[in-house]
Amino acid sequence: MNDEKRDEFLVGAEFCTRAIHSQMDSHVASNSSTGAVVQPIHMATTFRQPGAGEWGEFDYSRSGNPTRNVLEKTLANLEGGVGALAFSSGMAAIHCVTMLLRNGDHVVAGCDLYGGAYRLLHKICDRSGITVTLVDMTDPAAVEAAMTANTKLVWAETIGNPRLSVPDLKCLSEIAHTHHCRFGVDNTFGTPALLRPLDYGADIVMHSATKYLGGHSDCLGGTLAAKEESLFEELYYIQNATGAVLDPMTSFLTARGVKTLDLRVRRQSATTLQLAKWLETRSDVRRVLYPGLESHPQYELAARQFDGGFGGVLTFELDAGLARTAHVCESTRLFQLAVSLGAVESLIEQPATMSHASYDAVDRERFGITDGLIRLAVGLESFEDLRNDLDAAMCQNSLSG
Ligand SMILES: *Cc1c(COP(=O)(O)O)cnc(C)c1O
Repeated sequence: MNDEKRDEFLVGAEFCTRAIHSQMDSHVASNSSTGAVVQPIHMATTFRQPGAGEWGEFDYSRSGNPTRNVLEKTLANLEGGVGALAFSSGMAAIHCVTMLLRNGDHVVAGCDLYGGAYRLLHKICDRSGITVTLVDMTDPAAVEAAMTANTKLVWAETIGNPRLSVPDLKCLSEIAHTHHCRFGVDNTFGTPALLRPLDYGADIVMHSATKYLGGHSDCLGGTLAAKEESLFEELYYIQNATGAVLDPMTSFLTARGVKTLDLRVRRQSATTLQLAKWLETRSDVRRVLYPGLESHPQYELAARQFDGGFGGVLTFELDAGLARTAHVCESTRLFQLAVSLGAVESLIEQPATMSHASYDAVDRERFGITDGLIRLAVGLESFEDLRNDLDAAMCQNSLSG
């Protein structure tokens, strides 16, 4: 089949099909003489030009690289954007968004914002005269009240953490757009397999590709996809001007991860729901936070907004203080004590001392990041093995007090 026909065929194809086959739509591999079914990795930093002052598709690798391009085109396709950009980390991607802002601009962001984004906004962007208000993104009235004449960006996460809050994306996009302000969404926890924020009116969708997109705890990367051409061009300009691009090898590995994204995330979601339900039955657990549980405050919204699962992260609160909670986290055998999420291996961590340690103590208290909280990032091991592992760690530590 020729390439054009393949592209046409792909337009109507399902997510899991496009995740694999949109990676082959570029001339890079399909026109190659080798017939390779996998994209090659282009390590070249510079590209020969047709003539002086004439430019080919690629000229210099910071401005564009064929391997990075494959990942970017695939992401744009999966998120439903006009284009996407791959960065050296998720934070570099968020930083690129904040570079759209100028001195005097104001940002409204979620109060259970990713710790690194909290730090970027409060400790770096403030140097350029950008101010931030954190609000509960699940409360549209609070978001509306936080908007000022200078607000230029509303920044939400499809699932906030560690509280696992789920904002109404359509509602937030309407608030942002009424105030002539851009709406950006960090979809790291949601993944495009389960949720596509651009369909709900977001202007920009961001990923830490380090998590589900890469999926194997071996790639650090970030992505942005934009809904409109002019915004995409602006972001591309900033990326090229500041230089935090993703290297070819990591681009290749991340694109490879994306091929199995759908399968992984659905399985991880199913196992996480089983674990959440099991944890809810335990008397030593004060509460379980997972959008797939009917007890979750945004369960109905989440059920509408997500398609086929609620993600692979859950938080639960032990009836215990900092030390005993830490000890439970240190006692599991399969769940490894580490921050991050989205990979094949399961991880456990204590938000108060690990993922959310960059929050000021006052804000931790204010936003309910309590000492007894534990966050699980569920991998691809079996539910029974993971449950037994947690059970042993929790029982052992209840006996020893
Ligand atoms: C990890 C993460 C980031 C930052 O990404 P890095 O790749 O670590 O720079 C941003 N947002 C969320 C929700 C994350 O989990």
